[in-house]
Amino acid sequence: MHKKDNVLIKTNLLICLIIVVGFLSTALLSYQANYSTSLKSIEEVSSLTSESIYYQLTTAFAKPIHVSLTMANDSLLREYIDNENQELNNQNYTKTIANYLDQYQKKYNYDSVFLISTESQCYYNFNGIDRLMTKDNLENVWYYEFLESKEDYSLNVDNDEAAHDDMTVFVNCKILDDQNKVTAVVGVGVKLESLQTLFAEYEKQFGVNVYLVDNNGKVQISTKNLNEDYFKIKDLEDKKEEILSYNKDKYQFWTKNYNTKHNDNFMVSRYIDDLSWYLVIDQDNGSVIQSFRNQLYGTILIIIVIIIGILIIVTKVIKEFNKQVLQREEAFRTVTEQLYDNIYELNITLNCTANTSTQRYFESLGVSVGIPYDEGIQIIAQKQIKEEFRKGYIDTFCTQNVLKQYELGNTDLRYDFMISQDGINYYWIRIDAIIYYNKEDECVHMFTYRKTIDHEKRVELEMEQLACYDKLTNLYNRGSIQLMIERMLNQNTNQMYAFFILDIDNFKSTNDLYGHVFGDYVLTQFAGVLKENFRTQDVVGRLGGDEFIAFIPISSLYSIEGKAKRLLDVLNQEICLDGDCMKISASIGISIVPDDGNDFVSLYKKADMALYISKNKGRNTFTIYNS
Ligand code: GH3
Ligand code: MG
Repeated sequence: MHKKDNVLIKTNLLICLIIVVGFLSTALLSYQANYSTSLKSIEEVSSLTSESIYYQLTTAFAKPIHVSLTMANDSLLREYIDNENQELNNQNYTKTIANYLDQYQKKYNYDSVFLISTESQCYYNFNGIDRLMTKDNLENVWYYEFLESKEDYSLNVDNDEAAHDDMTVFVNCKILDDQNKVTAVVGVGVKLESLQTLFAEYEKQFGVNVYLVDNNGKVQISTKNLNEDYFKIKDLEDKKEEILSYNKDKYQFWTKNYNTKHNDNFMVSRYIDDLSWYLVIDQDNGSVIQSFRNQLYGTILIIIVIIIGILIIVTKVIKEFNKQVLQREEAFRTVTEQLYDNIYELNITLNCTANTSTQRYFESLGVSVGIPYDEGIQIIAQKQIKEEFRKGYIDTFCTQNVLKQYELGNTDLRYDFMISQDGINYYWIRIDAIIYYNKEDECVHMFTYRKTIDHEKRVELEMEQLACYDKLTNLYNRGSIQLMIERMLNQNTNQMYAFFILDIDNFKSTNDLYGHVFGDYVLTQFAGVLKENFRTQDVVGRLGGDEFIAFIPISSLYSIEGKAKRLLDVLNQEICLDGDCMKISASIGISIVPDDGNDFVSLYKKADMALYISKNKGRNTFTIYNS
């Protein structure tokens, strides 16, 4: 369970990692592609906004300048001024000038139209003489400065109104006499309505900031920061002089703010000649960064939602899968346990049992807790296993052999042996073992499966028996005789042996006279006598038909003759079955190891030749090949 959880966590982490890396790299790539485009668009928008506002402002100024200049060059007005000296106390004269000014004011819908005589210091408007100009009045400073200047006309902005919403621009023009002496100043006052509204619209639409800044850097018209120092607000004091001294076309640049307080700003400054002010447009990359940040947050949110979704699904699927695997394992174990009597697990490296059921089993066999596994199997062998199998059992399953086999790459072990619960009745059992390396405790482990194979084993042994023995006589058959003789010849090369072939005389007629059943009986009786006359270490078998073989160690040739005579004697007998009797005899051919050869084929051949001689001699006799 613990291991499966680990797999689950690892799988989930891997999936999270893939998703996060995938999404982030996509987001990063699109960020890179979009960022420079966005900066370019900031530059373009700021620049175009500057252009547009600049032209709207200069167009607004053009008309009042034109009207003022027209009045200044009007010969009628010049004549009025020339005559002022004589007409000063004439009510009609004042009225005429007031009418003149009133007409212009009404025609162009100006805020004010005025005339100031340099001679009388009278300030005329639509109402007549409004006031007298005095130098000590601060409001008149513009007038005296203008008189001093060389310009023919000037623009003067009245921006001290409380509302700040509207800006009144006064256009002032000099009226000169024939000697180029200034006789009067005429002009109009125009309200440029809702400049702030115009600025606000641009700001809203394009995300820019719009300011009108005077030549001291003070904000004159804007939707914010009025009367503050623009360069101070924007942290641009080091650039102030450079920007304010640039009176030509546009001045635009990116400000890099290394202190993180501000974003990078794109700034476009434009000098407005008529006003001697600067139209400053700026836009920072904050909106771009913000939009990317929002995009990133969006991406992160999507990632989180997807990850949660996938994790839930993956966890569910894996858990379901694990559950099924567990069920299968459980079913498999039950089936296996039914198939095998016992399944046990041993920790070979630590020389102990590896689980409690194995421990309990060992205890049930009298192996107390704490006894090492190697000692445990000695006790079990002693108590339960048939003596001849004890060594094999211990040699196979001792830790030393298991570790050795594992190192050799043999992971399967098997041992069949006989076991008993009561010390009397033994039955066959098979232990199959699988050796494996357990990663969890870094030890070599072994699973052993005990299976009762008593029935199968007995059948198997019977089959083996059948394969070796002749069915009729229960002597060794031809195959096993040859195998055993060859083994004996190989094992003991210095030993003398005698190879006997014994053949029943005229056996064919036995069959013919009394039938096959009687013939078979004769064969079994013959075999029985033969077996009785040899020792257990001698090999006695039936080659086939009525031909028998005996292979015996001998000490001298002399002893063979005696043996052969005795055999002829005992084999010469009458055999009766169900009233039928038959006298039989045998002929014998003998070859000798090593004189006649030391392999089965040569010995057989030579003994057969000797037999042939015996038959030819008239049967019931023996022949030794060489003699
Ligand atoms: P000889 O003295 O020359 O040996 O004469 P023989 O009649 O014994 O001749 P041979 O040894 O060649 O004949 C063997 C006979 O044994 C032939 C066959 O019919 C018989 N025979 C072979 N196998 C069996 C068997 O399993 N049962 C029985 N009843 N007869 C067998
Ligand atoms: Mg024969």
